[in-house]
Order: sequence, then C-alpha cells, then structure tokens
Amino acid sequence: MQTHNHSNKKDCRKTLVHMSEYVDGDIGAKDKKGLEDHFANCKACKAVFATLKKTIGLFRRASVEKLSAAEARAIRSEVKAKTEK
Ligand SMILES: [Zn+2]
Repeated sequence: MQTHNHSNKKDCRKTLVHMSEYVDGDIGAKDKKGLEDHFANCKACKAVFATLKKTIGLFRRASVEKLSAAEARAIRSEVKAKTEK
C-alpha cells in the first residue's frame, strides 16, 4: 500500500524550473502540461503558482507585456523561497 500524500521533491524542483520559464514567457506547451499534471498532485506547488500568476499579472499591467529581467528575477526568488522551506 502506498500513500500519495506528498509528491516527489525532485518533481517539485523540476516544476520550479518550469515555473521560471513561465515567468520568462519561455515555456513550451509540453512543459506547461507537465506543470498542470504536477499541480494535480501537489498542492504546495499549485499554491505557489497561483501566487506567481497573480504577481506576474500585477507586473504586466504596470508595464509592458513582458517582464524585465529584474522583475523576473524578483518573482523567481520569491517562488524559490516559498518552495524551499
Ligand atoms: Zn510540487
């Protein structure tokens, strides 16, 4: 019998990388699907991503459609802090 309460840490790391790509607007359709699959099993990452999307939305409304490198970096470190505690 196997419990399925917490998904693999390695998966979370991979997801984090893809989230970074998402921030940069640089994610492929396949990786995006991978993110969604992971979120189905991992509430922690899903919550982080929800915050991430909201943050991106705020930045994007304030400036152009693409985030600056500094903004992307700020968001990424925020996400990293959340997933690494
Ligand atoms: Zn996860």
